[in-house]
Amino acid sequence: MNPISPLEQALHAARALVLADLVAGEVAEPDVVSLVEESVVQRRWWVEQWPEGVEFVAGLVAQDVQDALLERYGRWPLCPVCGSGDPHALDVEPELGPDPHWVCGKAGVKVAAVGSLGAATGGAPS
Ligand SMILES: [Zn+2]
Repeated sequence: MNPISPLEQALHAARALVLADLVAGEVAEPDVVSLVEESVVQRRWWVEQWPEGVEFVAGLVAQDVQDALLERYGRWPLCPVCGSGDPHALDVEPELGPDPHWVCGKAGVKVAAVGSLGAATGGAPS
């Protein structure tokens, strides 16, 4: 058997992190999961072209899924920090870097690491 490549490990981790956040937001419907799969396929190709980008995959998959959800479902993930005003989505920072976090651009706070949104929102499923 071949050992799992770092690329496959990174893609697997990215998929798991983004799915965890989707579950936390209760939007992990089968068609939403397929959006994650589509992104993972595209990012596999992307990292094959640019191997140094392997560390950035989790943040990129999160942004891909966020963009795809915006078209089909609306804003995700909604900011759990701001209690008033218009509901708004969190942003991924850095957009292209390791160790991605969800941040609220309005309040200027880091809300959670990508993959840890459930703990931040208290919305973890039973
Ligand atoms: Zn906010």
